[in-house]
This record gives sequence, C-alpha cells and structure tokens, in this order.
Amino acid sequence: MCNSFNKKFLDEAAKHWSSSEEKNQEQVDSFMKEAIDLSLKGVENNDGGPFGCVIVKDGKIIGKGNNRVTSNQDPTAHAEILAIRDACSHLDSHQLDGCVIYTSCEPCPMCLGAIYWARPEKVFFASTREDAAKSGFDDAFIFEQIGLTPGERNIEFRQMGRKEALQAFERWDEKEDKTEY
Ligand SMILES: [Zn+2]
Repeated sequence: MCNSFNKKFLDEAAKHWSSSEEKNQEQVDSFMKEAIDLSLKGVENNDGGPFGCVIVKDGKIIGKGNNRVTSNQDPTAHAEILAIRDACSHLDSHQLDGCVIYTSCEPCPMCLGAIYWARPEKVFFASTREDAAKSGFDDAFIFEQIGLTPGERNIEFRQMGRKEALQAFERWDEKEDKTEY
C-alpha cells in the first residue's frame, strides 16, 4: 500500500518535472533562436557584426539588441550592451534582477563587464569566442591586456591628478542622499 502510494507519487512528480523541464527547454531554445535571428538580420541589414541578444524576465522578452558598431559609428554598440540598455529602460531600473540573457555568441570583455554590472541571474551563449575569432572578431587580445599592469598595456595608460580626483570619492562617502548600487 505504502509502496504503491509512493510509486504513484513519484511517477506523478516525475511526469510533472519532465513536462516543466521540457517546456523550459523549449523556451530556452526559442529565446536563443530569437537572439540568433537578430544576429542574422543584423548581417542582412549591414547593421554591424553578426551578433544578437535578447533579455528575458518571467518568460517574456524585455530587451533586444544586435551589433550596430558600424551603422551607429559606436564601438560600444555590441548586441549585449544594446539589449541591456533596452531591458533596463523597460524595467525602469539600473539592474537586471531575475533576468536571463541569451546571446548568440560568448560575450567579449566589455560585455562581460557590463553583464556583471547589470547583475542578471544567468547567461546563455551559443557560439564561442573561438568561433568569433575565426571570422576576425578576436577578443583574446583584450582578455590578455586585462591581466597586464597599466604600464604594460599596448594602449598607453598613465596616472595623473590622483589627489584632485579623490575629492569625488570623499564627497560620495560623505553624501547622505546618494543612490548606492
Ligand atoms: Zn561585446
């Protein structure tokens, strides 16, 4: 008696689990498909590089973007950056709480940084940075530069004016009505 109850309970639970997992997987696939479609449309329209991104919250797309570096004449107009801006403006927030990012390619160092600042819950990516490098989008060089000290970098970085600049931190530390993040 006890065993058959347990079995029935477990069967039901397994059925429920597998159908919600399946539904979840279908959704994952359809959101990634949206991101990939954006990457393809971007190539078709000469917007920029072959990259697309969507941001999802509670099962709905709340932000989209595809690379527009050349058409916007903006080196920061990567798919993920544009999608983050779109989603944040939709949420009226500077954070992507509870959001999932679907991007057609593994994020570059700039987008990786932006993703960390935006604090989403999870990131799915399709193609890899090695795939991107094969088409001339090689960010390995930037990843390498991040590990160097300012003096060792290919673009010259020199420090100046620290004492004056520190005033902004002092004001910030003292300010009582600031919006922390
Ligand atoms: Zn990027």
